[in-house]
Amino acid sequence: MSKVTVFLSFLLFREILALSGNFWHITDLHWDRTYNLTSQPEHICASSGDRPANDAGKFGDYVCDSPWFLINSSVYAMKAILPDPDFIVWTGDDTPHVPNEDLGEEEVLHIISSLTHLINDVFPDTKVYSALGNHDYHPKNQLPAAPNHIYDQVAELWRDWLDPESRETFKKGGYYTEKLLNQTGLRMIVLNTNLYYDQNKLTEDMYDPAGQFSWLDKVLRDAANSNEKVYIIGHIPPGFFEKKRNKAWFTRKFNKMYLDLIQNHHSVILGQFFGHHHTDSFRMFYDSEDSPISAMFLSPGVTPWKTTLPGVKDGANNPGIRVIEYDTKTLQVKDIVTYYLNLTRANAAQGRWEKEYRLTESFKVPDASPASMHRVLERIANEHCYLQKYYEYNSVSYDLTECDSDCRVDHVCAAKEVDFEKYKECLAEGGATAIHSGLLPFLFVIAIWCLQ
Ligand SMILES: [Zn+2]
Ligand SMILES: [Zn+2]
Repeated sequence: MSKVTVFLSFLLFREILALSGNFWHITDLHWDRTYNLTSQPEHICASSGDRPANDAGKFGDYVCDSPWFLINSSVYAMKAILPDPDFIVWTGDDTPHVPNEDLGEEEVLHIISSLTHLINDVFPDTKVYSALGNHDYHPKNQLPAAPNHIYDQVAELWRDWLDPESRETFKKGGYYTEKLLNQTGLRMIVLNTNLYYDQNKLTEDMYDPAGQFSWLDKVLRDAANSNEKVYIIGHIPPGFFEKKRNKAWFTRKFNKMYLDLIQNHHSVILGQFFGHHHTDSFRMFYDSEDSPISAMFLSPGVTPWKTTLPGVKDGANNPGIRVIEYDTKTLQVKDIVTYYLNLTRANAAQGRWEKEYRLTESFKVPDASPASMHRVLERIANEHCYLQKYYEYNSVSYDLTECDSDCRVDHVCAAKEVDFEKYKECLAEGGATAIHSGLLPFLFVIAIWCLQ
């Protein structure tokens, strides 16, 4: 190799490195301040209800929300693994799963404030984009479409993370947008999708709560006109819960409106990052020709809390946090690396956060683009070994039981169809014909890869 070639290769390598960035996504920390190891198993934490916390340790228990020790450990794990991310995405749900009577406005604000300070203390120089969850209000789920004391107070707590204009829209409706890291051509949109939650009695009859949809439509239209690339973050996702058949979060009307907006503006949207499920999953968006146009990544929660949602069997998870690798110029999502804490092992010995998996390695795709995520979905739908792998990651390696044919349909249809009608059709077809695979001749090869 000539000296010139070596020099050119060096320049190219430097260019590739310069384009590659990364950020943290954390969500659903759900701090339970009552967690107390000296109590009887039934009373170790209020969030367990009457369920005994039989495996409780200093990092928590699968029937409880997070003790402070776990929350602290998760944020310091972020610092140890990737101390200088480009920014942090934090998608809400800070308070424990307890009756409203056990919380109150002051307590909710105290919890949000404590978590804000922790993240700020550990990452004092990092920009944080922060969305409200349905548990970040009192009474829970009832987030208003108008100014109120809690939006005001939270805007103050997050003052350092918000531009002056963001503070204004946040106080009105809990949402905002800013240039991503102040860069021309890049934009972050932070939504308050709790306004579309079917448990929110204040907004169910409204056409466009807090004007967020018309605002979002305008922000995305302006973004297209200015050649911007956009990320959207929020707490409650549209579509269906993969662990309970027919369980949607948005009302039908709001689900349709969200989907229409993504379909209309997908060319500027390079990624959507949401929480609320506590599980690790993703949602696909397609155009009218069934081409993949957008992917939404659902990050696992820090809380291990076993859901009490009727019909969900053993719905706990190990605590998870994740790094998203992206192209700093185009915002293309390159890869996702999920880290986790095996709660049982952590309580028994030293707590150690470790890598769970890297998306491109585990699912044999070149990146996390919509086309690649569609291929991931095809593999999960058609190849049992990929389905099983996805299923174990879904609970952050907590539930290692077999994902049977019903389980397959639930997960495949939830990932593929955000639309209410199409989801129903997918269920009726058993999730089979919904996914066309041109990979059949190579199944044997894929099966071998999958085992790696
Ligand atoms: Zn949550
Ligand atoms: Zn939630």
